[in-house]
Amino acid sequence: MLNIMSNANIIDGRKTRDALLPELTEKIKTLLKPPTLAIIQVGNRDDSNSFIKAKKSFAAKIGVLERHIQLLESVSTAELVKVVQECNAEQNIQGIIVQLPLPIGIDRDSVIDAIDPRKDADGLTAKNVKAWLEGRGDATMPATARGIKELLAFNGIDLFGKKVTIIGRSMLVGKPIAMMCLNENATVTVCHSKSENLANETKSADIIISAAGKSRLIGKDHVKAGQIVIDVGISRDVEGKLTGDVDFDVVKDVVAAISPVPGGVGPMTVLGLFQNLVDLYKPTTVFSW
Ligand code: NAP
Repeated sequence: MLNIMSNANIIDGRKTRDALLPELTEKIKTLLKPPTLAIIQVGNRDDSNSFIKAKKSFAAKIGVLERHIQLLESVSTAELVKVVQECNAEQNIQGIIVQLPLPIGIDRDSVIDAIDPRKDADGLTAKNVKAWLEGRGDATMPATARGIKELLAFNGIDLFGKKVTIIGRSMLVGKPIAMMCLNENATVTVCHSKSENLANETKSADIIISAAGKSRLIGKDHVKAGQIVIDVGISRDVEGKLTGDVDFDVVKDVVAAISPVPGGVGPMTVLGLFQNLVDLYKPTTVFSW
């Protein structure tokens, strides 16, 4: 049973996020002081600017402070790592995110892994991911995986025992989603650019989660009646329109329910990020990194 549906079969990320917002706001009110999130941006990409704007406005809504640090496109990896380390050392900062993608030439892994895992609100550092894969209670679930988990759960979609096909195997997105589904007792198939006959894999699933970043990769030949489709991809089509991986207009008429882009996983990832921040802040949390 789907709780939040603006149309017959739309899994609405904005409405789900808004429904979960009061609980998070209440939690923040119980903290000793409002947590602060450092948002580190390199350059001035339009997409990054709009994602950061969404995070800042969400922070303001729930009573979280943010510190936006914007650096020139010409910054070196070493300089960027130094900025991250300064945020690590700053007591008034409880969470740090580096807005991706970074410009070509910057060593993304070195920058991400410079974040202290105790402040890793996106949950993307190698140390944190390893701890999370090992099932450590003090590890942080990567924000996108957490957002999808919440989106499915809130809308009454149980992963337990379901066949889930995930498209995408990146360390930052596809693999954490796969692990989250596995932890929720789904049977998981992970597809990638070398997978043969993608349509066979997607059609045999109960739930499809697509995180390829390829506009309208999933069409009506990839789906069947009764399926749930979660679209993580964000890209632009040839006309510059924001699209997901799924050809929404045709797929929505076939499947049981689908999350749109925009307005699906995106708002839930922002929620997951701030839920992580609040969990990291808990003064009672004992870390042993
Ligand atoms: P990525 O590093 O480029 O990984 C893309 C993955 O998709 C790779 O595993 C790739 O396979 C696979 N792939 C690409 N083309 C494919 C095809 N034709 N058939 C099957 N698999 C294919 O991207 P990412 O960082 O994981 O991000 C994926 C997408 O999610 C992007 O659009 C990104 O913007 C979006 N995203 C959205 C949110 C959100 O909150 N909504 C959050 C994070 C990311 P190979 O491994 O073989 O190359």
